[in-house]
Amino acid sequence: MKAALIGVGQAGGKVTEALLAEDRRAGYGAIRGTLAVNTAKTDLEPLDIKTMLVGQERVKGQGVGADNELGAEVMQSDIREVMGELDGVVDPQTEAIFVVAGLGGGTGSGGAPVLVKELKRVHEIPVYALGILPGREEGGIYQANAGRSLKTLVREADSTLLVDNDAWRKSGESVTEAFDAINERIARRIGILLAAGENIEGVGESVVDSSEVINTLKSGDMSAIGFANADAAPDPGENINVITSTTRKSLLTGMSVPETTEAGAALVVVAGDSDRIPRKGVEKARSWVETETRSMQVRGGDFPLDSEKIAVLVLLSGIARSERLEAFMERAQKASEAVETEQVTENFQNEELDDLL
Ligand code: GDP
Repeated sequence: MKAALIGVGQAGGKVTEALLAEDRRAGYGAIRGTLAVNTAKTDLEPLDIKTMLVGQERVKGQGVGADNELGAEVMQSDIREVMGELDGVVDPQTEAIFVVAGLGGGTGSGGAPVLVKELKRVHEIPVYALGILPGREEGGIYQANAGRSLKTLVREADSTLLVDNDAWRKSGESVTEAFDAINERIARRIGILLAAGENIEGVGESVVDSSEVINTLKSGDMSAIGFANADAAPDPGENINVITSTTRKSLLTGMSVPETTEAGAALVVVAGDSDRIPRKGVEKARSWVETETRSMQVRGGDFPLDSEKIAVLVLLSGIARSERLEAFMERAQKASEAVETEQVTENFQNEELDDLL
C-alpha cells in the first residue's frame, strides 16, 4: 500500500522514522512520504526525516508537556501551515495516510485527532491513526490523556490501529528503556502490513493486495495486529503445521493489543519464501482465525519475502470487545476522574490563597 506517514509528538516522530528506515532496509518502497510535527524543538532535532515545528507563538519550541488540550489548540491554530507542508508527502498515488502518535502525552495526544479530522476533510483516501497506548506503569495523566485522545480518534479516523506499549516489550525492560526496541518491533510488523500489495524488488509481487488491508480496516473503529515467526522447512508440505502453529502464536500471544481475539474482520498474511509456503497452510490458518475471532470476514494470502523463516501477521479490525481495551478504558476513566478532582482541589486551594493574599 502506498502510504504517507505523519508523526505527531515525540513517539509519533520516532515511530515514523523507524517505519521509514525499515521500509527502505527491506526494500518495500511502500512509504512514499513522511513528516514529523512537534511543539518541542529538541525532539525534532535528532530525527532523520522531514520535520516541522508548530506552536512557536504559544510555546516557543519548548513543547506542551502533558497538556493535550494545549496540544490540540496548537495543532488547530497551525493547521493550514501543517497541511501546506504535506505537498510531496501525500501525492496522487498515495493510497492511505497514517497519523502516528503516542496517545498518552501532549502534542501527539491532542494534535493527532485534530490533524486526522482536517485530513479527512480534504482527502478522499482513508486516513488512519496509528496510536500508541501507554503501558500500565505509566502515570495517571498518561492514561487519562490516552483515553480522551482515543475517543476522539475513533470518531475521526477511518480506523485507529493500536499498539499497547506493554505488548511487545520484553520482560525486564522498563517501558522507557525499551522504546527503541519497541519502535523497531512496530516498524517490522507494521512495515509488512504497509508493504502488502507492493512489488518487492527481486522477490515478486505480494498476493495480498492493499485493497484487502483497506477493506479489513473498514469493518471497525479500532484495529490491532499480531505477529509471530518460526523457521521454515525447505519442503513446503512440512510447513502446513508451521503456519498453523505460528498463526496461533500470532493471535494468542503476539497481538499489539493483548487478549484481543474477537473481531469484526481479519486479514492473515503469511510472509516468507513463496516456494516454502503451501497454499493449504494459508487456507488452514485463515479458517482457524475465522473460528477463533468468530468473524465471517477473514481474508488471507501470502507475501513473498527473501527469508528462511515464515512469519504470520494477523490484522484484526473491530476489536472494541477486547478485554485489554476495556480494562484500559476503565483505567483511563478512573485516572481522568482523579486528575479532575486534583484540579478542583488545586483551584480551590488557589482561590483560598487568593483570598488570603
Ligand atoms: P508528546 O511528544 O507530547 O506527544 O508525547 P510523547 O510522544 O513523548 O509521549 C506520549 C506517550 O508515548 C507516552 O505514553 C510514552 O510512553 C509514549 N512514548 C514516548 N516515546 C516513545 C517511543 O519512542 N516509542 C514508544 N513506543 N512509545 C513512546
